Amino acid sequence: MSLDAAWADRWMRAAAAAMAENRQHLIDLDRDIGDADHGENMDRGFSAVVEKLDADGTPATPGDVMKLAAMTLMSKVGGAAGPLYGTAFLRAATAAGPAPDLDPGTLVTVLTAARDGIVARGKAEVGDKTMVDAWTPAVEAAQTAAGASASSAEVLAAASNGARAGLAGTEPLIARKGRASYLGERSAGHLDPGAASTVLILQAAAQAAEE
Ligand code: ADP
Ligand code: MG
Ligand code: MG
Repeated sequence: MSLDAAWADRWMRAAAAAMAENRQHLIDLDRDIGDADHGENMDRGFSAVVEKLDADGTPATPGDVMKLAAMTLMSKVGGAAGPLYGTAFLRAATAAGPAPDLDPGTLVTVLTAARDGIVARGKAEVGDKTMVDAWTPAVEAAQTAAGASASSAEVLAAASNGARAGLAGTEPLIARKGRASYLGERSAGHLDPGAASTVLILQAAAQAAEE
């Protein structure tokens, strides 16, 4: 399975389906330590990405699909997550360049660029109880897998598993960035909603590579 534009198109559609399916779950997570809008924000954003893909047709390269997603998420998601995911997909698109498909090494570069974009934009570190806590172990797992000669699909599966472990690790943390940080110690004992949506995005990427 090559990670071409058709894969990236399937990725966005799988992510949109996951956001719709998990809309209430993400709302509930954000109600515990935020303002209960994360599920609505992400569902609206990825629905708009699919509408744009339907209207324009699949772009020529995976990087072009990521750029379309970046622009759409930036204008439709709002809140903290919109600019963060927008920056992530924009940096990912730049890292992908004009390549017609992503080999494992390029894929790791793309995932790393996405994570670095989120860090550059939001200034969160690992342990601050944000989506960075899902992206960072995802990137590390992807690097390890690519270093062991995994296929692109296997690298995505590793990234998705890494993100899932990172999400679980956010539960005991005290939030130091974003709205949840207003709660101080009361933010402990809850999963971070943005880390949860990151898992859905990376799971969708892996799923699209299996099809
Ligand atoms: P808002 O908090 O504006 O309502 P969302 O609910 O859509 O925005 O997104 C909240 C998520 O955004 C958090 O769960 C967290 O993962 C992420 N987030 C917030 N601030 C930052 C930051 N500075 N860096 C990285 N991620 C952040
Ligand atoms: Mg919110
Ligand atoms: Mg909000």
